[in-house]
Amino acid sequence: MRLWEKNIRSVEPYVPGEQPNFPDMIKLNTNENPYPPAPKVKQLLQEFSYDILRRYPDPAASELVCALAKYYKVKPSQIFVGVGSDDVLAMAFLTFFHSKRPIFFPDLTYSFYEVWAQLFEIPYQKKKLDSQFQIVMQDYFSPNGGIVLANPNAPTSIAKEIDFIEEIIKKNQESVVIVDEAYVDFGAVSSIPLLERYDNLLVVQTFSKSRSMAGMRIGFAIGSERLIEALNQVKYSFNSYTMNPFSIKIGTEVLKEDTYFKECIQKVIATRERVKERVKELGFLCPDSKTNFLFLKHTKWQAKELFEALRKQHIFVRYFEKERIENYLRVTIGTEQEMDVFLDFLQKYNKVI
Ligand SMILES: *Cc1c(COP(=O)(O)O)cnc(C)c1O
Repeated sequence: MRLWEKNIRSVEPYVPGEQPNFPDMIKLNTNENPYPPAPKVKQLLQEFSYDILRRYPDPAASELVCALAKYYKVKPSQIFVGVGSDDVLAMAFLTFFHSKRPIFFPDLTYSFYEVWAQLFEIPYQKKKLDSQFQIVMQDYFSPNGGIVLANPNAPTSIAKEIDFIEEIIKKNQESVVIVDEAYVDFGAVSSIPLLERYDNLLVVQTFSKSRSMAGMRIGFAIGSERLIEALNQVKYSFNSYTMNPFSIKIGTEVLKEDTYFKECIQKVIATRERVKERVKELGFLCPDSKTNFLFLKHTKWQAKELFEALRKQHIFVRYFEKERIENYLRVTIGTEQEMDVFLDFLQKYNKVI
């Protein structure tokens, strides 16, 4: 092997859910929202002049930053935006996790955390969730270089209450604590109110799931002015024109469509609760979900076999070949009709197997 080959950075990348494209498919594998973005978005897309592309976008995305500040009742200097929350989280890892001490996150959580820790050579320790997939609070009380928690957690779908999160932050005021709230709008409680008391807290959210805009790539963080300033410094040492002008404008306008947003969420939640009851009748175990997906384990069936059988019918769900969860499926909540097809399949599978 030549020296340059040895010097290539090797990382094990994150594996996203597949993006198949069949006209008849039912896609329940990447937690996308089944409902379209607010109608206003369609109108805006038609109104854009293509001349907008000639110029660089606003590097600070000020319009979107101000709209988010107004929506969440914080100062614009407390908001950082990025190209999806993956971009925001990666920037936050790079900015805040610069200690010799390990950062902590659960063993079962969003698998990108481990990828970024490896990529940025951040020491880390995975803390084991208990047998019910709950976070063990005391595990996060020893000295560390930072903490990352997804709340609700993925792929388990379980949310912790705000007091629980606060206790972890309170005991870790020498570290930055990142709370990834990608699914919070589907019924969990946000940690945003804690920002008043803790300047070491960074809350990260996204337009991808609850706002039906995964393709637009909009994510953001809310934190103390000191944290946001540090994030901006790293961002501007890296790439200053990250957000395209369409995302900035559409993201800004979509925040004004709150009624539509809340209606879509209520529909997803109602479908989730109905499907949860049905799958339990069919022999599945499933934790109480506060997300737009269910984390399912059947009392008899093998997850991998069921996954393959569903796939043959072009019903796509997520299967993780991973220790402790190798017999689980993560199923995104689709429309009522899509979930009926999914449930019908399970009903028939029940008879065959
Ligand atoms: C989907 C997801 C993200 C990232 O979403 P973006 O599309 O990059 O905004 C971050 N964290 C968790 C836990 C997710 O499920």
